[in-house]
Amino acid sequence: MPVNSSRYPIPTRKAIVNKILITADHVITGPAGQVIDDGAVLVDAGVITAVGTAAELDTLVDASVSRLRCPGATVMPGLIDCHVHLAFDAGPDPIHAVTHADPGELAAAMAGRAELMLAAGVTTVRDLGDRDALTVTLRTSIESGTAVGPRILAATAPLTSHGGHCGFLGGEVTDDDDIRSQIARNAAAGADLIKVMASGGALTPSGPRMYESQFTPGQLRLIVEEAARHGLGVAAHAHGTDAITHSVAAGVRTLEHCSWRTATGITYDPKITRRIVENDIAVCRCISGDWRLFLEQMGPERADAMAETILDMRQAGVRFIAGTDAGVPGARFGDYVGMLEFFASLGFSHTEILDMATTNSAHALGLNDTGTLASGMRADLIVIDGNPLTELDALRRIQHVFTAGRLLNK
Ligand SMILES: [Zn+2]
Repeated sequence: MPVNSSRYPIPTRKAIVNKILITADHVITGPAGQVIDDGAVLVDAGVITAVGTAAELDTLVDASVSRLRCPGATVMPGLIDCHVHLAFDAGPDPIHAVTHADPGELAAAMAGRAELMLAAGVTTVRDLGDRDALTVTLRTSIESGTAVGPRILAATAPLTSHGGHCGFLGGEVTDDDDIRSQIARNAAAGADLIKVMASGGALTPSGPRMYESQFTPGQLRLIVEEAARHGLGVAAHAHGTDAITHSVAAGVRTLEHCSWRTATGITYDPKITRRIVENDIAVCRCISGDWRLFLEQMGPERADAMAETILDMRQAGVRFIAGTDAGVPGARFGDYVGMLEFFASLGFSHTEILDMATTNSAHALGLNDTGTLASGMRADLIVIDGNPLTELDALRRIQHVFTAGRLLNK
């Protein structure tokens, strides 16, 4: 990566930058495309301490403070991926890969994937299903600085029905007692949230079909209540229209996939969409970088029907958040921009897309210290060659990544 824009001696990998003033042609502070032209961000001990024009901050900040000058570049909040599986390998058979892996090798592979995501500008990930709470271990290593990666929120083992979607991750439950003890186990292992497989999924062909519900409405309510007792929110994997309906009624925080499937195809319900908006439930559509191939396989009729549901939800005011489902077949780690391009292809503006990738995702994840650039926020930010408000592809030209003020040196 070119670092010629910098007068600042780049510290070694994972170095913590104590104080640095970053200047660039544009500083996207967010939300809603708020920009400071010829802007600057001052980072001190992991936190943003000032945002303003370069002229202003250059004068205010002592000459002894390091400068990172980035002409032609944009500074913006670090990206957020709300749906990843660090334990999966993105190959054709992630189930085999995750169940047969030696735990040490799997942990090392997960660390590599996390680093790949950070290098792509993703400073926060929410992992929605792993084995043996390995993501919590990785989270601890990243926090202590012994591993390099994004901030991690971990769901650990997703709750699923017996023989259900992703049961191989260890979260199969049958009755209410099982539900309570699995949630207690996840919480004790350090989970940041609870994931429930409210419907079947593509990855587990032996389980229920994608449109079929895996839990009753009462069980979903119990899962939300029980998670709340442990101070945790719930993310619901819900392809089926029934599963979506019941998850919304139960009070989950986010809906994953939300593809409105029924036995006969796609059955969209605008009444449920209104409840999603009223209850401020975020929707993570989970689009991998190879979505063009996926749409081709779907056929034009179903692809159009899917697009229509997304556009109707958008019209109704649904808060979309960004997720790649990285780790499942074809969803490569670090291919974040491909997912954003899907939304651009539907006519979402770049401003909406950047909000989805930053502010909206932070809000949905309950993080109030990342997703915008302002004084007091965590210094999670990226420097990009170009301006993503005019050209999304610029997000593929990452020059520098800071996570909590720690500069990733590529
Ligand atoms: Zn997933």
